[in-house]
Amino acid sequence: MLNALAQPCTAQAADAPAPDARRPATQTFLTHAARSKAFHGFVNPPIYRGSTVLFDSMDDLVHGRAEFTYGRKGNPTTQALEKAWSELAGAAGTILCGSGLAAITTALLSVARAGDHLLVVDTVYGPVRALCDGLLERFGVAVTYFPPDPGAGFEAAFRDNTVAVYLESPGSLTMEVQDIPGLASIAHARGACVLMDNTWATPILFDAHAAGVDISIEAGTKYLGGASDLLLGVASANSIYWPRLLDTHRMLGCIAGPEDVFLALRGFRTLDLRIRESGRRALEIAHWLRSRPEVRAVLHPALEQSPGHGYWKRDYHGAGGLFSVILEPVSRKSLARMLDGLRLFGMGYSWGGFESLVTPIDHDLVRTAMAWNQSGPTLRLYIGLEDVEDLKQDLAEGFSRLAGNP
Ligand SMILES: *Cc1c(COP(=O)(O)O)cnc(C)c1O
Repeated sequence: MLNALAQPCTAQAADAPAPDARRPATQTFLTHAARSKAFHGFVNPPIYRGSTVLFDSMDDLVHGRAEFTYGRKGNPTTQALEKAWSELAGAAGTILCGSGLAAITTALLSVARAGDHLLVVDTVYGPVRALCDGLLERFGVAVTYFPPDPGAGFEAAFRDNTVAVYLESPGSLTMEVQDIPGLASIAHARGACVLMDNTWATPILFDAHAAGVDISIEAGTKYLGGASDLLLGVASANSIYWPRLLDTHRMLGCIAGPEDVFLALRGFRTLDLRIRESGRRALEIAHWLRSRPEVRAVLHPALEQSPGHGYWKRDYHGAGGLFSVILEPVSRKSLARMLDGLRLFGMGYSWGGFESLVTPIDHDLVRTAMAWNQSGPTLRLYIGLEDVEDLKQDLAEGFSRLAGNP
């Protein structure tokens, strides 16, 4: 019925996978979700602030007989995003936390206890490695890191007490796409829970739960918020893991504030358009960068040379706007000259907003299960919504400074 909408202005490059038949329905869903008669005809849910919720009677209070009972346990604003996200992600339920890292922490604590063993991908987001080696280790949970495309080594890494596998695709900074369905089916055969950080793709570009992920995590700070003005974590679970995820969220109490949730709901409406447009621009710049003599390699999942490209092509519905480039070896001073002089690319952490960013990443890159010994410096680029030619010019001027020209 909605197929007439299937080809919007965001056509993908020739090596992109076929358009997803489900997508037009998704765009319609994003714009119409989370409406309620309770909002008196206003299109958006209002921001409910508050701790106390008053009960009608002692009986209702004693039995907790009300849809909302206390601010920490949710309100109509948070419920609107949770429900909409669960439907988008194809999940049984969703929790919201004050940051992406808080959602990851809550998810991991919901599946592991003292004496357990976790398998964690080596290309995991840095602060998650710190969580594993710090807090989890302190509480008696052992962690083994494995390479993003582990082959037969993956099954061999399981122990009798391995309860969960934590994936992130593409990998942080180095962008390796993982065989999520393959790894998930091996993990499930061993009775382990599969968690995945799906921040790069969001459910728009990768259907994590359908691929076998039990708990899918998203830094809502990035594409969902979409404007670099909030911090939010989202974790959705299938029916097997939803009760314990909700339980752990309740016990930890690390919730998201209603203002940030309201802003994220605004981002939700335009998520599909923004991620696809950011991805389209990123691909244009990625292809251009490949032709530059200063660039040794471009690590974008949609490029054939990028590790795990075949998995991306098989499993993903499009390209995201975050990728990395390895430059030919240059001095640190030259690199600083290039980066310090950029006019449009901001230098800073996070991504997913409307503005393009660049970060040098070698100092942040920790790998213990795979080799990473590139001689040239590595940059991570995020492409926002500026004009593509303007962005290329900014980078071209940067390359000129890299070569020592003023
Ligand atoms: C930013 C990010 C996070 C953490 O999100 P915060 O909201 O900053 O805590 C987790 N995973 C990935 C892939 C990220 O990019």
